[in-house]
Order: sequence, then structure tokens, then C-alpha cells
Amino acid sequence: MLRVAVVGGGPSGSCAAEVLAKAGIQTWLFERKLDNAKPCGGAIPLCMVEEFDLPDHIIDRKVRNMKMISPSNKEVDIRLDPLGYRQDEFIGMCRREVFDAFLRNRAADHGTKLIHGLVQTITTGPQRKGPYTIHYVDHGHGVKGDAHTLEVDYIIGADGANSRVAKAMDAGDYNVAIAFQERLRLPKQEMAYYEDLAEMYVGSDVSPDFYGWVFPKYDHVAVGTGTMQENQSLIKGLQRGIRHRASKRLFRGEVIKVEAHPIPEHPRPRRVVQQMALVGDAAGYVTKSSGEGIYFAAKSGRMCAEALVKVSGQGSHIPSAREMKQAYVRQWDRRYGTTYKVLEILQTLFYSSDAAREAFVEMCGDQDVQRLTFDSYLYKRVVPMNPWQQIKLTLLTMASLVRGQALAPFRYQPVDSAVGRSQEDFLDPGAVQVEMTPPGGGQSPASQPESREKSAMTRA
Ligand SMILES: Cc1cc2nc3c(=O)[nH]c(=O)nc-3n(C[C@H](O)[C@H](O)[C@H](O)COP(=O)(O)OP(=O)(O)OC[C@H]3O[C@@H](n4cnc5c(N)ncnc54)[C@H](O)[C@@H]3O)c2cc1C
Repeated sequence: MLRVAVVGGGPSGSCAAEVLAKAGIQTWLFERKLDNAKPCGGAIPLCMVEEFDLPDHIIDRKVRNMKMISPSNKEVDIRLDPLGYRQDEFIGMCRREVFDAFLRNRAADHGTKLIHGLVQTITTGPQRKGPYTIHYVDHGHGVKGDAHTLEVDYIIGADGANSRVAKAMDAGDYNVAIAFQERLRLPKQEMAYYEDLAEMYVGSDVSPDFYGWVFPKYDHVAVGTGTMQENQSLIKGLQRGIRHRASKRLFRGEVIKVEAHPIPEHPRPRRVVQQMALVGDAAGYVTKSSGEGIYFAAKSGRMCAEALVKVSGQGSHIPSAREMKQAYVRQWDRRYGTTYKVLEILQTLFYSSDAAREAFVEMCGDQDVQRLTFDSYLYKRVVPMNPWQQIKLTLLTMASLVRGQALAPFRYQPVDSAVGRSQEDFLDPGAVQVEMTPPGGGQSPASQPESREKSAMTRA
């Protein structure tokens, strides 16, 4: 009977383990930290709620409004009501510690053996064939932990961007982006403003190749940004950029947590090697443009496990690498290859300069573009456009790109307060003033006089 170890108890690992256990396959799920709060915005699409049978109580907020903010602070609202979406259609916002624990415990309820342990090394047979010996430190009886081993026939690597399974199978490297995020507790008024609203900021000041965000959580907001690894040294400056831009909306924000984590930029060169397969971030399944990875992690875990159940004859024999490549990797690429490609092209086109970012935000004001974006995000489906919509979109893109050149700013300024605070509030001597240094340490446009005004954010 097939013995499977799933390494990593995030969404990808738990969803894989659940499928295997339900099929009656002997499954162990390793998670090094059972209360792990993965650094993450926590936004999930609506289709995930139904597809993965997620209960209401693990969704903190149901966002129905998005605000896109351009480099020159042009704000575009995207609201679900005018677009004709129903009241029960939304983007879910979750705390990962709650979300991950739910999925992990559900896998355990179906018969997965959950091990609170850190996988340290994996010993393979010749040519990386199984059976495999997993060496791990069991934290089940305390922090220090005891060293243990477990022999298995198959390993699913769901251990995120720094995957040890990927190393054991020589899966090859991938480029990563670096994401930085601060969690801020806000005064009641500002928190109410973010009740069902997420904000996305674009501009060279917040990221040269991605976007900055303010996402609402249970009782605070997550404020962050990301950039490609080659710009890693800029990340703290970029975080100051997003905080500077949103400073009047993050009035007296109290920093309660600071976190950073890599985000994979494309799939690993090898996702199945002998009897080892990668899913989720370990495989490299985060989309460009949006940086979305939770749904794709859960979905890849599920698809990989379903393929394994099928090709192993419900666990009656050990499948070959060829069988799993066919049943899992090829199916995955067939289903989502175009989505990844389209989002990569959009990122290259629209996140490359402030003129292009101005154009991008302007285009997001069009209802056809909004419907297209929401449908493909919420339901993971490509919406067919009629010829008129296609022509309109092409003309709109061209016109916006031309206009964007004129709109792009020379310097970046904070957006206005959204709850009507006056300038005096921001000069309140009771608030600790934080000097805003520009991204890159002083050479960027943000160092110009208007950008050097002080923020009224309070640091914890
Ligand atoms: C700042 C930031 C914001 C993001 N915002 C969003 C968002 O809003 N929406 C979205 O869809 N995506 C977002 N993402 C991406 C998303 O977080 C990931 O794509 C997703 O978490 C991938 O899930 P996973 O299960 O593959 O890996 P992970 O969630 O990384 O889980 C891996 C698990 O493995 C465990 N583990 C690792 N190594 C070992 C080991 N050796 N032994 C035992 N256990 C181990 C870890 O503790 C962890 O629990 C964001 C990412 C970042 C960094």
C-alpha cells in the first residue's frame, strides 16, 4: 500500500493530504509550526469558497469594493453593485493562521496523520528514487523536539518558496519576488473606511514592477509591497513609499507586525522527479500582475493528489514519474498556462513605467474591463468578449497609454484622507512623526520637497 508524505501544511499541502486520506491512502502531513501566520494579504476568490467548501467563519471580510490609485493619485473605484454582481459575490479576506489551521485540521479529520515537525533532510535511493527516508524534528511534545525518521514511497513537496523537497529532488531554481508587509491597527474611523474595501497603489515609489496594497483584515489592515529579487535592496524604501502615499488613510496606524517573504515568479524547471512532486509555491504557481497564490496552491495540491490516487490505482502501486507528469503537470499547464502567460504580459506592459501605470488605472475605470477583471479573478474563467468590446478595449489601451505620458507625476504625494481629517490632524503633536525617506535612499522623485512631508503614523 502506497505511503505518502506531504511536507508543508499550508493550503497546498492540506488540500493534497485531504484528497489522499479520503481515498484511503496512508498519508502523513508535516507542518513545522501549527500556528504559522504566513505573511500574506489573505485575499481569496469567491470560487474558492464553494470549491473548497470553506465556512463563513474563516473569512474575516467580504470585500466588494476595490480602489486603484495611480502614480498621480488618480483614484478609480471598482464596485461590484453597479456591475450587477449579487450581494453574495465578494473577494474573501482571511487571516492565514485561521485559514491554514482549518484546512489542516480538516485533512486530519479525514485520516491524515498530522505531524507537528520540521523536515530537515530527505534521503533518497540511487537516482533520487524511493523509498525515501524523511528526517524530522518532532515538536509534538515541546519546542526542542526529538529527531525521528519516517520511510515513505511518495513525497509531495508543499513546503513553500524555500522548499527542502525541491532541493532533495533537484527541481531547479526559480526567480522570486520579495514581498514586505506591515500590519497596522487603525483608529475606528479609518478602519470603518476599509470595512469592505481594498486599495491597490501603483507607481515607481511603491514598486518598480508590482503594486502596493492596503488590505483589510479582521481588526487591522495589511500594508505591503513587492518587487523582483534583483530590486530586493530597495524593498524597505518601497515600503516607506506605500506608507507615505497612504499615510493620510493610515492615520495613527500602529504597527503590530512586520513580515517579509519570497514569492515565486514562475514554475520550477522540474515539478516531478521520480516519486516526488511539487505543489503550490514550492512548484512556483503564483500569478504575475496580481501575485495571487492561495487558490492556485490549494488547487494544485488537490490536482496533484487526485492524479496520484488515479495513477497509483487508489494507492495499490507506486506510480512512475512519467505517469505523474502526464496526469498532473501536463493537466495543470493545459488548464492554467494561458492564465499565467496573460498575467505576465499584463505585468510587463502596465507595470513598466509611471506612464503605463497611469494608463492601467485609467483603463480600470471602464466597466467592461472591470467585469472582465472581476469575472476572471472571482471565478477563474476567461470571459469571452464580443467584437465591439474587443475593438473598444484595444482603442482604450492605446489612448490610455498615450495619455499616461502626460499624467505621470514628477513626484509622489499622499492621497487625501478618506474620512475627512483636516491638515491640523496630521500636524497633531500627540502623534509620533515618522520621517519618510524615499525608496532607494534619496535619489528618486519622492525626495523632492512635497514628498518629504512628515507622516502622522505612529510606530509601535
Ligand atoms: C506578503 C505576501 C502577500 C500575499 N498576498 C496574497 C493574497 O492576498 N492572495 C493570494 O492568493 N496570495 C497571496 N500571496 C501568495 C500566497 O501567500 C502563497 O501563494 C500561498 O501561501 C502558497 O501556499 P503554499 O501552501 O504553497 O505554501 P505556504 O503557504 O508557504 O505553506 C508552506 C507551509 O510549509 C511549512 N513548511 C515549510 N518548510 C517546512 C519543513 N521543512 N518542514 C515542515 N513544514 C514546513 C510552512 O510552515 C508553511 O506552513 C502573498 C504572499 C506574500 C509573501
